[in-house]
Amino acid sequence: MAAQIRIGQGLDVHAFEEGNFVTLAGVQIPHTHGLKAHSDGDVVLHALCDALLGALALGDIGQHFPDTDPNFKDADSKVLLKHVYQLILDRGYLLNNADITVACERPKLAKHNLEMRQSIADVLNVDVTQVSIKATTTEQLGFTGRQEGILAMATVLISHAK
Ligand code: MG
Repeated sequence: MAAQIRIGQGLDVHAFEEGNFVTLAGVQIPHTHGLKAHSDGDVVLHALCDALLGALALGDIGQHFPDTDPNFKDADSKVLLKHVYQLILDRGYLLNNADITVACERPKLAKHNLEMRQSIADVLNVDVTQVSIKATTTEQLGFTGRQEGILAMATVLISHAK
């Protein structure tokens, strides 16, 4: 049997709407707009949930938390992430590391980076060094460049705790 190491990737997008903050990685960040969503619109945590689910072929976030379900209206995505990670733990796996990229022109995320990483580390009960978040603009190209929304991608590595 090969080493029990699994990889997963996830991607999420939410559009901007009226508002004065966005929630990214569980952190409220002041902005000229909010993010349109059934939940809190946390693209970072949604991408991370999909990466974790993908690592064990457990479907996707839409199957686990349908946006038609009133229980998930304005849901705190940290709760969703905790639920998803428990599915991973229940199968005997632990997170090695997560690497996340966020694409947007604004808000600028550099000064929120450590708080976002720590927020995820706290939910997963891992060390902050196991969680990376990188931000990029898309050079004013495409929907992120036109400031119509935010995109996030996540990759995770998990391994079976023997
Ligand atoms: Mg989403």
